[in-house]
Amino acid sequence: MRKRPPEAMSVNRAHGGPLNLGIEPPGPMETVPLRLIEVLCPRMFAHCPICGDPATTEEHVPPQRLGGTRMTRTCARCNNSFGTLLEADLVDWFDEAWSTSSFQSDAIPGRRQTSRLLRRWTSDGQFVFLPEGRCDPAVGEILAAGGDVTLEVSPPDQNRCRLALLKSMYLGLCIKAGIPEGEPADRLRAELLAVRDAKRKADVPVSPIALGLTVLRHWGDPITEESVVLAELLPETGPVLGTLLAGRVFVSASSSWSEATTEPTERLVYQLRVGAPVSGEVATVHPEPPPKRARRRGHA
Ligand SMILES: [Zn+2]
Repeated sequence: MRKRPPEAMSVNRAHGGPLNLGIEPPGPMETVPLRLIEVLCPRMFAHCPICGDPATTEEHVPPQRLGGTRMTRTCARCNNSFGTLLEADLVDWFDEAWSTSSFQSDAIPGRRQTSRLLRRWTSDGQFVFLPEGRCDPAVGEILAAGGDVTLEVSPPDQNRCRLALLKSMYLGLCIKAGIPEGEPADRLRAELLAVRDAKRKADVPVSPIALGLTVLRHWGDPITEESVVLAELLPETGPVLGTLLAGRVFVSASSSWSEATTEPTERLVYQLRVGAPVSGEVATVHPEPPPKRARRRGHA
């Protein structure tokens, strides 16, 4: 499994104090009480809960890259299409990352691509980009030269991200109560199934149900280590039932569609004024890598 990128780190600067970077944007945030109702255990169905074909592949809920575990089974077609078409947007959203990005400035000719860019925040509210993996060495030269730099990025698509969450929430409900019948469930499945017909990501149809979900993100350490927990959000307006995924993301079981959320996500362009480069060494990263398992001594 691909490792999760670090959420937070501390950098010891050559000059000045340490620079602490976190995944959580600083500033006031809305907090809503959440009640955990029941930890859901894996439940296998003979038929795919989404399309009804024989269920032949193990399914992680939520996706493994968010920390999900094998919770149920779906058919290979559902498993593969949702993975290919939706997962990258969900993971980018969860990791606070941009998949496609490029830098450009007068210092170096051409537009220079980077690997995935992680967006992290300093405690005083400035954002810092961390390229994950390899990137064109010219990007370093562009930033070292300073001055006006254009950064172009593709943020995660809201519709695809929400569809991925809808699928995990729906599978969670199936695990809890069995595969639901009736018109609302049929409509939900129809919006999920429409994804499978898309040839590429850009063709994934807009899902009013997915966009109408209430989604809340918990920052910091996970509320629980369990993959899927039936939970209830308790805002002043009344309780909202749903699932808590990976101890971090609450997704409501009900949806209220609003036209205002249909805006497609486009590329964003930032004009940056880059100052003098800062050098330093990474001192700590969070989450810390799992401790090595103690090796049991064998008997000769
Ligand atoms: Zn299926």
